[in-house]
Amino acid sequence: MQTLDSLRQIRSAWVIKLAQDFARGEVIRDSFVEELNVFFDSIILAVAEANTEEVTHLLANWSNSLTESDFGQNEGTLVTICNRLFETMYEIARGLFNDQDTLALLITMLPVHTEVIISAGRLEKEKEIEQIKHELNHVREQMNRLDKSKSDFISIAAHELKTPLTLIDGYATMLREAVDLDINRGVVNQMLHGMDQGARRLRKIIEDMIDVSLIDNDLLTLNFQPVWIGQLIEILKNEFAEAVRERNQTMIINSFEGSKDMIFADPERIIQAFSNVLSNAVKYTPDGGMIQIDGRKLPGFLEITISDTGIGIDIDDQLRIFEKFNRIGDASRHSSGKIKYKGGGPGLGLPISKGIIEAHGGTLWVESDGYDESTFPGSVFHLLLPLRREPPDARIKELFGSIIDHNHAID
Ligand code: ADP
Repeated sequence: MQTLDSLRQIRSAWVIKLAQDFARGEVIRDSFVEELNVFFDSIILAVAEANTEEVTHLLANWSNSLTESDFGQNEGTLVTICNRLFETMYEIARGLFNDQDTLALLITMLPVHTEVIISAGRLEKEKEIEQIKHELNHVREQMNRLDKSKSDFISIAAHELKTPLTLIDGYATMLREAVDLDINRGVVNQMLHGMDQGARRLRKIIEDMIDVSLIDNDLLTLNFQPVWIGQLIEILKNEFAEAVRERNQTMIINSFEGSKDMIFADPERIIQAFSNVLSNAVKYTPDGGMIQIDGRKLPGFLEITISDTGIGIDIDDQLRIFEKFNRIGDASRHSSGKIKYKGGGPGLGLPISKGIIEAHGGTLWVESDGYDESTFPGSVFHLLLPLRREPPDARIKELFGSIIDHNHAID
């Protein structure tokens, strides 16, 4: 058959031209040349037996691996690629044969070409539908997660808010009875103290919720001032002294390079961020354990580490704990105390700390060998803060001008 002869004659020129076109100056891979040859074989078969099954099968393989194969490098769709393969065939035929032979080849190839394009179009559509289904599943999963976090929020928030309210309610009732019974002042004071504690806990949870929503909406404003991290750590040490004593723990503060450097940061927010991490260190470390604060100066940053000898954190949870309303472990532990061993809170502490540190241009992460309540692998929280020598706001810069100049002179 004349067409088959013609096809065999144009084969090598066709392979070389396409390989060069697709390789665009890069080395032509043997596997790619092989793929072109397989396609040409399937076209010969389609012409010889008037059956495009083989070529359709090949296209299905291409369609599946299109994104990884040489054809996928922004060369367009399967239909475009197939058209290009046939057009190159006709172009080479025009150069090699006279008009009559070229026309004969075109006429024989036309039905094959049409069928290949129809198959390629169908495969492409199938692939697109598959992709859309995949995306839909992804969105569905996200919606489910959102739904779960919404119901987690409702149940945790309700539980968290209810606990201090019950406390206030209970003491208020007792107080009312105490007043009626004319009970002594000491007992009344105890009840007032209980109410006070409940109210404080309630305020803290509400403030944390407000902070999380500020962070979520990029509305956290920082009040930049000159700060010496070493001093803030001293303040925290005093703040936690009683809790550490109560839990029979040891808190070690190491002095480190950079702790005496003046940087610009929001001291209240930094204390809040550190305090959340420290109170977790106290809570998730057993009685008699150790908490250590250390740090080092890095180019442009200060890295502060807060490590403990506590229960540690599962590798799989090490990202999740920074998400709000994260619910690691037993939900009944929630709101069971500020410093009590394993006394979880609403799961807002770490997301707030991370939000504050990130608003400063830094980052916060944790390292732990895993969770184990018998071997206590411990956790190390890393807080990376930029060594900001000047405030971002020009007005504040003016206000603290002399301090900044003095520090530049020391630098
Ligand atoms: P919570 O209010 O529950 O303490 P956080 O956001 O402060 O919320 O912490 C989230 C979770 O991360 C905790 O419930 C706890 O499971 C885990 N976690 C945080 N810090 C530590 C730590 N130092 N050791 C072990 N687990 C920790």
